Amino acid sequence: MKKPAKFLMIFYIAFLGILASAVFSQISSGPVPILKWLGTAGYEITFGDTVILIDPFLTRPPVNFFSKDFKGDEELNSSVALISEVIKKADYILVGHSHWDHLMDVPYIAKKTGARVIGSESTANILRSYDVSEEQIIPVKGGEQIKFPNFSVKVIPSLHSLNGKKRVGIPGVVGAPLKPPLKVADLKEGGTFGYYLRLGKYTILHIGSANFIENEVRYLPSPDVAILGTLARENTEDYTYRIIKLLNPKVVIPTHWDNFLLPFSEGAEEIAELGESGKVENFVKEIKEVSPGTRVIVQKFLETYTVGSE
Ligand SMILES: [Zn+2]
Repeated sequence: MKKPAKFLMIFYIAFLGILASAVFSQISSGPVPILKWLGTAGYEITFGDTVILIDPFLTRPPVNFFSKDFKGDEELNSSVALISEVIKKADYILVGHSHWDHLMDVPYIAKKTGARVIGSESTANILRSYDVSEEQIIPVKGGEQIKFPNFSVKVIPSLHSLNGKKRVGIPGVVGAPLKPPLKVADLKEGGTFGYYLRLGKYTILHIGSANFIENEVRYLPSPDVAILGTLARENTEDYTYRIIKLLNPKVVIPTHWDNFLLPFSEGAEEIAELGESGKVENFVKEIKEVSPGTRVIVQKFLETYTVGSE
């Protein structure tokens, strides 16, 4: 072999080697979860070709929730056009609790997409009220570790945040299917869950309401991303300090801080009625005080975050 040919051969082999290792690392590292905020406590997680929704709530009807005359007699009708525009596919839907601002759009989305829905017995009964197929419903009690083809989810027994009277708003359970049209007050809390997802080598914890049970969180491996409820956290003792110390997350995404009584088209506005406690920047400061190394990401509606991209 002449010298230039030998050189070319070596170069060619080296090039093939680099190409093979690049392809191998792509295959071995697998897909990366992409998180998109839908407003309130709602997310779309895309992982390879699997789409998981958590508490998807887009309709945001003008409910009289912050008034002392609140009765919850507003009728619930999902915004079909808006949902079609935002949600193209869903394989699974995780529901934290059964209040309207977490659950009201789930029956429509489940029927439209055929997604399987994980939630409490109250959530299951609301889905049955709208004739969602029984095969799509996965009722859980908390503590389950459910294995799906390319991810798993642990259902974390949790608690709902408390209002100024130190009570849960719209309490109780939905013991049986109801006859639509349903009203805000029909969607009772029905028990609250967090969700700990394992997506390949990545982990995401979703706590959609600002409360939790210490012993259910204490032994969880630190998540790559903790999505933490913000609203009404001042009624849970040392919420920020305790949850951040227990979880030690790499990234926190504050959730449920936007004014969910305003239409989706207005974007994420803070809740002016709540003064200082309604400001998300205060939650960011609290997290940074407890854990200066934790990255805190405040998203806009439909903004995406690729897990592990920090
Ligand atoms: Zn709630």
